[in-house]
Amino acid sequence: MILDYHMHTPLCRHAVGAPEEYARRAVERGIEEIGFSDHSPMPATYDPEYRMRIDEYAEYVEMVSRCRTAVPGLSIKLGLEADYHPGTDAFVREVIGRYAFDYVIGSVHYLGSWGFDNPDLVHFYEQKDVYELYREYYGLIVKLAETRMYDIVGHPDVIKKFGHRPAESIDDLLRPALAAVRKAGMAMEINTSGLRRPCKEIYPSRRMVEIAFELGVPVTLGSDAHRPHEVGEGFDEAAGMLRSVGYTSILRFTRRRAEAVPL
Ligand code: ZN
Ligand code: FE
Ligand code: FE
Repeated sequence: MILDYHMHTPLCRHAVGAPEEYARRAVERGIEEIGFSDHSPMPATYDPEYRMRIDEYAEYVEMVSRCRTAVPGLSIKLGLEADYHPGTDAFVREVIGRYAFDYVIGSVHYLGSWGFDNPDLVHFYEQKDVYELYREYYGLIVKLAETRMYDIVGHPDVIKKFGHRPAESIDDLLRPALAAVRKAGMAMEINTSGLRRPCKEIYPSRRMVEIAFELGVPVTLGSDAHRPHEVGEGFDEAAGMLRSVGYTSILRFTRRRAEAVPL
């Protein structure tokens, strides 16, 4: 079964196209189930230009349900991409609890006050040791998992977005991070949007997928579409990588309960 669990809506201020256009694109591509996972509201000072406001939150949920009515042939899930950022847990927990989501993706987009995936702030990479950045990033992934607030860890090596990769092996960072994901009963997202970025590689790397498989971490699939035509992009490559590592199933979520379906 092919499903795409990561796509956005115009409410986040940096995606274009009506949800119906995303859904129709999925149907065209033979995708059997999609889920919207727009950027969740966060405390007012956190990244406000890239997400819906709290007073737009109800509209998001309505938008997804209108989309179900408009495209009845497709199974459409209600998801959310919620940031993990130290100190915001209480706010995020409350926001997640307001609606009956099918799944919640937890993503790290900031190291301290640095939005490291923002192209305008890419120069900050030059000021730090790359391995050290990865160490900080994976430290946050462990904490994300420990909150038990999320079902899926989103784009789990997005720190490589602009092509910064440590020369040395990072297995010693990946193992504890994935062990924490496993312990939390979470899935790891295979996010094809990395193929559209300077790193030119799926999030995560094949190596991370191998370690995840070894540790028994289940997976989901997402295109992180911010435009309708991006729905399902790169999925042949993603499914091929998963199968070659040994995965034969992916997870499908309904009301935050997971079920394995054949890949
Ligand atoms: Zn986005
Ligand atoms: Fe994200
Ligand atoms: Fe996203």
